[in-house]
Amino acid sequence: MIKYNLICKYCDNKFDSWFVSSQEYDKLKKLKYLNCHLCNSTKVEKSLMAPSILNSKDSNLTISKNEKLDKVKKTIKEYQKFIRKNFKYVGDNFAHEARSLHYNNKDKSKNIYGSASADEILELKEEGIDTEIIPWFQDNEN
Ligand SMILES: [Zn+2]
Repeated sequence: MIKYNLICKYCDNKFDSWFVSSQEYDKLKKLKYLNCHLCNSTKVEKSLMAPSILNSKDSNLTISKNEKLDKVKKTIKEYQKFIRKNFKYVGDNFAHEARSLHYNNKDKSKNIYGSASADEILELKEEGIDTEIIPWFQDNEN
């Protein structure tokens, strides 16, 4: 069974009707067996359902995107947890601290994290100082 929203082109009456199949609808329409129960006109058409179909597709898309994002966020948060535990936070001083570690500190196992501009990161790379860029979520963000 298939339900169509029908509209009478003559009096603008909208109504639902059930059909065994879309072929049955076509057949009944061709034979002019479809008629408006208000004005008896046979100018009855399927009304367009496209907007609601589009909406349901859109909402499915949003849900699957969010699920993916949640997974990525979870992974990043695990990174963050690891980094907080094992790295020293140096804030905006990252470029300076990374250089002093690289040139002065003999303890190469010391790890730091902080923020740096794209230019600073490029300069550090040119000097042969290894850096990784990871996305960072604030604590207050869920
Ligand atoms: Zn009608």
